[in-house]
Amino acid sequence: MKRLAIGLDGYDSNFSGCTTHFTIFLLKTLKFYEKNLKLLTDPLLVRLNPNIPFKTRGNAAVSLLIEGELSEADIEKTIEELSAIYSFENKGSAYILDLDGNRRLEETVKLYLKGLTDLVPQKVAEEVAEEVGGVSIGGKSLVGALAAIGYALSGLPSTFELLAYRAPEAEFIRRIDEKRVSEVLLSYRTLFNNVNRKNKVVAVPRGPDPVLIGIRGIDKGELEDAFRKILPYIEAPSSWCIFRTNQHTDPHAVHKKIGELRVYVSGLIEGYISRDPLVKKGGHVILNISDESGEIEAIFYRETYPMNVVASKLKKGDRIRILGGALDAREREGLIFEAEKLWILSAPEIKVLKNPRCPRCNARMESAGKGKGYRCPKCGYRTKEALEKELFLLKRDLPKNPISPLEGRIRHLVKPPELEGIELPRVELERGEIFCRF
Ligand SMILES: [Zn+2]
Repeated sequence: MKRLAIGLDGYDSNFSGCTTHFTIFLLKTLKFYEKNLKLLTDPLLVRLNPNIPFKTRGNAAVSLLIEGELSEADIEKTIEELSAIYSFENKGSAYILDLDGNRRLEETVKLYLKGLTDLVPQKVAEEVAEEVGGVSIGGKSLVGALAAIGYALSGLPSTFELLAYRAPEAEFIRRIDEKRVSEVLLSYRTLFNNVNRKNKVVAVPRGPDPVLIGIRGIDKGELEDAFRKILPYIEAPSSWCIFRTNQHTDPHAVHKKIGELRVYVSGLIEGYISRDPLVKKGGHVILNISDESGEIEAIFYRETYPMNVVASKLKKGDRIRILGGALDAREREGLIFEAEKLWILSAPEIKVLKNPRCPRCNARMESAGKGKGYRCPKCGYRTKEALEKELFLLKRDLPKNPISPLEGRIRHLVKPPELEGIELPRVELERGEIFCRF
């Protein structure tokens, strides 16, 4: 018996397909060759740095840990044959590693961690592949394939996503009773980010995507239960599988100095607001944030509501933390930091000085001109005395918990508010049931 890890990335094309869907075909085929093939964990769906513009680099990579009689060569041959059928662009990458025979497996974990926040050059991935000594297939997406294995071995927090796939004969338009489906999904406490505030099911792709629906949760049993309940209200899926995933766990929330940010680097920055917010037409909000190493403009797009509204209420001098990524600013030289999540660390009360009250009638007085004292608009009382202004402290009505965009707008890796403070299940070799039907 051999225990193998298989990492896969880039088995999609510009027209259709998806690496998770390819994984289902691969599992089906491997199971056909080896009846006793066993999955050691749920299949893993792994997302990397969301700010990398090239879609094949870990946009949705997958890894499988299996046990059986198949050799690396058997699996290599199967992947190559299937990939020729599945994606005619043939740009996918796979990596096969013997969990007991290969050495320095921790290098894949390091690569995964780097891939969450940085742009990892192909050359670095090739060096890691060489060092670990597994079998490499294909080319351009090796980073994703290796990093997906790294996540499987990392022991880090996870959530689950049940993905159901469309039958080949399905019509172009998806048949989903959104009202019934959203009712079911909202009735489970452990499901999240599936339905938006308009009761639309958010995890339903449009167009020629093989995915019929994706449902996110933190409890496999409840996900499976919810899925059975929505089956009468959706078109018949051809297959489905619960993937364990790093989605919505904030894995890329790694502290970075502002001065060290480079284009495409993701992470957490922390500092003081150095200028009052700029609210742009349409609702985008720009904050200048600085730490001891530098200053950067952070942008809160309108689509990140209610985060952009909270950002607009901040003031110069407030201390904040932002999760996001640095990109080239389009309108000028330099970088801009796109915000995915916001923490308000300190927002001091605002001091406001008001004119003194009238000693005769208590109305608020007006200035009678520079150096001319005050005049009461109500009773006409005048004074040239330098009366003291009254000091007010304005309390700030700002959230104490981190703020992120709403369901359907929150990005893949970002932990939503409902999961804050919850201990998430960690990636490990499976003890419970694995839910994959194909
Ligand atoms: Zn008065």
